[in-house]
Amino acid sequence: MSNITLGILGGGQLGSLLCVAAKKLNVKSIIFSDDKDAPAKNFCNEFIFAKYNDKNKIYDFSKKVNVITYEFENIPYETLNEMNKLKIVLPKPSINRLIQHRLAEKDFINKLNIRTTRYINITDKSDLEPLIDFLPGILKTTTMGYDGKGQYPLKNIEEIKTLNIDFSKEYILEKLVKLKKEISVIITRFGNNKYEIYEPIENVHENQILRHSKIPAEINKKIFNQSKEWAIQISEELKYVGTLCVEFFLDRNDNLYVNEIAPRVHNSGHLTINAYNVSQFENHVRAVCSMEQIPLKKIQNAKMTNIIGKEIASFRQNLKLDQNQFFFDYLKKEIKEKRKMGHLTTILK
Ligand code: ADP
Ligand code: MG
Repeated sequence: MSNITLGILGGGQLGSLLCVAAKKLNVKSIIFSDDKDAPAKNFCNEFIFAKYNDKNKIYDFSKKVNVITYEFENIPYETLNEMNKLKIVLPKPSINRLIQHRLAEKDFINKLNIRTTRYINITDKSDLEPLIDFLPGILKTTTMGYDGKGQYPLKNIEEIKTLNIDFSKEYILEKLVKLKKEISVIITRFGNNKYEIYEPIENVHENQILRHSKIPAEINKKIFNQSKEWAIQISEELKYVGTLCVEFFLDRNDNLYVNEIAPRVHNSGHLTINAYNVSQFENHVRAVCSMEQIPLKKIQNAKMTNIIGKEIASFRQNLKLDQNQFFFDYLKKEIKEKRKMGHLTTILK
């Protein structure tokens, strides 16, 4: 063991894969989760089950670790802030607060002169009526959304009346982009102008949930370079430390837009485990624990497929993998519709 102990908030598949990477680096991992059956329980060195506002548990956890990070962005700012008084939290809590709010996030990106989809803030049902200009569009909760949750695709004004939308929440309405494809860029920043960046990954979503990711992305050189430049610019502007993902849309006229930023490791980067010398998870642990930065090298191209809901059953039962296939089971106890249960990475020639 090195003598570093890493605290991780959240115990899903991303937390699990961070624990696996930490183990490889001899870093001890302690998961803090509000789900007593969180899958990362199977992968960490120690597991703390508590509510995210439990002051005593926050204190106990913080005392045990050297540095704290998180695997998902929907953590109360107060929790991160409290922990940050005791131990360093990376990425900084203020970054998480900015990015977990879709409106603040999009305003920030636009201030950098980086293109996003057109959007408008909605606080009331009546706000929606005059917004024909933004339709067809998608209404999204400003906070707590993921995997398409909290989203309502809207074709026309009439639809608003038929949908049972909870207007006690705040939303943004985003104009629908006529998508040619979606890509993401993952970058791990270690300090000022010190970063490792992965090549753009091409992503296919089904029902707003990621289905496949692959490298190389089929995009031209200009998009390849522009997406990487924007990811570098965003991470430098945030003075980010750790792994960050920028999701992009490409429209039918080859215009590139930033869709959203994830201040964490990302599902589209699972293939980096098998395709690169250092995965996004290992790089995240290296960056937040101030460990050595290793020049990134791609070893091979790869494709990743998410295994969703009941699909996991056949993988668990009669698994026959080819030599170039790697199956990961997140060991989630309960199979739920639309729940990411595992993934399969295939190395491409
Ligand atoms: P989440 O936080 O759930 O990942 P996103 O904003 O990334 O939310 O939306 C999920 C997916 O829905 C996107 O990857 C894309 O496929 C589709 N989508 C979201 N917003 C738009 C949009 N404005 N135009 C076209 N497709 C969109
Ligand atoms: Mg997304």
